[in-house]
Amino acid sequence: MAKQAFKAESKRLLDMMINSIYSNREIFLRELISNASDAIDKMYYKALTDESLTFNREDYYIKIDVDKESRTLKIMDTGIGMTEEELENNLGVIAKSGSLAFKNENELKDGHDIIGQFGVGFYSAFMVADKVTVLTKAFGSGQAYKWESTGAEGYSIEPCEKENVGTEIILTIKENTDDESYDDYLEEYRLRSIIKKYSDFIRYPIKMEVTESRLKEGSENEFEEYKEEQTINSMVPIWRKNKSELTDEDYVNFYQEKHYGFDKPLKHIHIKVDGTVRYNAILFIPENIPFDYYSKEFEKGLELYSSGVLIMEKCADLLPDYFSFVKGMVDSEDLSLNISREILQQDRQLKFIAKNIQNKIKRELESFLKNDREKYELFYHSFGRQLKFGVYNNFGQDKDVLKDLLLFYSSKEEKLVTLDEYVSRMPEDQKYIYYATGETNERIARMPQTELVADKGYEILYFTEDVDEFAIKMLMSYKEKEFKSVASGDLGIDEESQEKKEAEEKENKDLLDYMKETLSGKVKDVKISTRLKNHPVCLTADGEVSIEMEKILRAMPNNQEVKAEKILEVNADHDVFRSLKAAFEQDKEKAALYTNLLYNQALLIEGLQIEDPIEFTNNICKVMV
Ligand code: ADP
Repeated sequence: MAKQAFKAESKRLLDMMINSIYSNREIFLRELISNASDAIDKMYYKALTDESLTFNREDYYIKIDVDKESRTLKIMDTGIGMTEEELENNLGVIAKSGSLAFKNENELKDGHDIIGQFGVGFYSAFMVADKVTVLTKAFGSGQAYKWESTGAEGYSIEPCEKENVGTEIILTIKENTDDESYDDYLEEYRLRSIIKKYSDFIRYPIKMEVTESRLKEGSENEFEEYKEEQTINSMVPIWRKNKSELTDEDYVNFYQEKHYGFDKPLKHIHIKVDGTVRYNAILFIPENIPFDYYSKEFEKGLELYSSGVLIMEKCADLLPDYFSFVKGMVDSEDLSLNISREILQQDRQLKFIAKNIQNKIKRELESFLKNDREKYELFYHSFGRQLKFGVYNNFGQDKDVLKDLLLFYSSKEEKLVTLDEYVSRMPEDQKYIYYATGETNERIARMPQTELVADKGYEILYFTEDVDEFAIKMLMSYKEKEFKSVASGDLGIDEESQEKKEAEEKENKDLLDYMKETLSGKVKDVKISTRLKNHPVCLTADGEVSIEMEKILRAMPNNQEVKAEKILEVNADHDVFRSLKAAFEQDKEKAALYTNLLYNQALLIEGLQIEDPIEFTNNICKVMV
């Protein structure tokens, strides 16, 4: 049969596998055993739920065979097997398994990095083998097939003989090189230790012929060697074990073996509940954002087992959207094997478990925040955005669950703080929780609108993400303190300056009216500012929609032309205001010119576009000449 070429991406990955200097080659065995276990899961499930099939527990196992003579290592399973078509689709293209759907091309250049980060599955076999042969017979099919490849040139598929349903993967192990001893992978003790290390929790026996020694019959000091088939793994699923028996490394290995993520988890949560509904769960909080996390393609969910049998790979109903970053599995004896997706959604037990899990995650995150702030911030850096969406979504129905998990950058502390920390530090006379919005912390720090509040010595929370202000609007208040934008109308500071402002507005009424007229259609009003110290002007917003929100809503796909009602505030104590006043008295045209210039300056400071840049620069020239 003619050779077929690998798909382009597969070929690139293969090249990397073959040539990689990756130090962790041994994981190929974990990958192949996981695949075998998954395939047996599928078969096992069929046998349990299909009454026409007979079921024998002993029929489900994985077997490892080594032959030093022919340099072959064989991984055999009694799983569901693959049809010709599946062979083609599963082993001819890797991109499909998700392993290769990279965020960007650059990551491809450094093979080392990639292999470390991505679970590469079947292809990792080429890290240790020159040739890979797959013999497989699918459940329900009369014909077996052989897939074979010596690497990057391609692969062939042809019919072959194989008695039982299942798959055999035969690796022809590479010859030793100067810096790598491939012989290791033909050594029994080495294989045993790799299996123990990564695959101890696999639910099916991993059998292997091992060499043992015993006293020779009739002798007291002479030993003889003999071969014996043993089960290498303990087979107790990790979630059934006691936490005290397990090390952090065990959890990390489980996470990686399960391909929950390509990173190391930041935290694991092991739950055992023995109440009205019994269940075990192991949950993980990943460190890194999955590349598709903030996209439509991302699917949340936990693996769902019923008494140790996998019944669903991604059960979305177990996780609320705001905790969608959580990975892991749940096993319950109280769920039926045959439960369908539709019925599952209504299932009371499942609802109970979901609620329970949600509470546990919340409490874990809270204690994480309290006890390991540095790591929590790493987590928050990746998934804080999701928590904030959670506050905002569904009209804020979950805000109370989430509000204590939020962090915002503080002007005073110059780091992330919780709302509780903010409120507990508030001076007695401070009425509101102040915040300012902008692109970066540096830019916000220099915004004119923050001057008064900062001058007063109050802390300001900086909002740099689009979702921040929306989330806070939904939250409305924290511990009875309302949130207030530094750009909002009444800052609740200082009665005195309020009186002074009113007097100045009265005194300058004609000028302000003239400015308002000059800017008609652009601003709703022109007012004397109480918040400015060093800047001549700034823009603020009246009403519900802030300027920042206007920017965000405008950038949305179906923008609804929502506009903030802008107010131009002028600083009556600024020299520029005195020039403006003088111009108004002597030369109205000049006053209009100044007004326009100031308005455009205010737009620029807000990060808004000025309507007519040419006119703006012409106006500056006019002033200079
Ligand atoms: P992944 O396991 O991440 O999907 P792999 O490259 O390891 O990626 O495997 C690709 C696919 O090939 C698997 O999803 C599975 O459908 C199939 N496969 C691999 N090994 C076996 C096996 N031993 N038995 C049955 N199917 C297998």
